[in-house]
Amino acid sequence: MSKRERSPENPFLVQMLFRYTGGTGNSCQAFPHTEFAPAVWEVYLYQTAEQALDVVQQGVEQEQLHQMMWDEACREQDTLGIRVHHTMYLCEECACQAITNHAGEVAASLTISTAQMTSGALLMVSDRLTEKAAVVGNVPGNIQEKDVLPLLKEKDTLDLRFKEELC
Ligand SMILES: [Zn+2]
Repeated sequence: MSKRERSPENPFLVQMLFRYTGGTGNSCQAFPHTEFAPAVWEVYLYQTAEQALDVVQQGVEQEQLHQMMWDEACREQDTLGIRVHHTMYLCEECACQAITNHAGEVAASLTISTAQMTSGALLMVSDRLTEKAAVVGNVPGNIQEKDVLPLLKEKDTLDLRFKEELC
């Protein structure tokens, strides 16, 4: 049983930001492509994975690990705010795959094409109460970390798309 409490401050855990850059000469870092795969997205990871290995080696269950990482990320965003833990570059295909895995095809394709047309960004988030995955589109490409949480509070203008339910 998970016992999530909605933070009145921050309803979402913010997991990653994908910024569409177009070609920068970097190669995709997600996957060892056999041919050069031009990276066109810059990705900021807002959750730490550093303690994961330690915890695994201490014999913590996967479910418990997920809970610990989730709680830690929520605590950090409530106290310190959004922090970049890792940055990576992704090609078109790997970015699309990652966003689709998180938010489903419809939400992914709409927010990806908006970001491509506007040189903008999108955010991968999860509802803290339900853990439902969502993506936030139409994010300014030059957004700063300190502006991410305020943006998510602008409910009226937020382009928030939850993962569609499969039935
Ligand atoms: Zn790739």
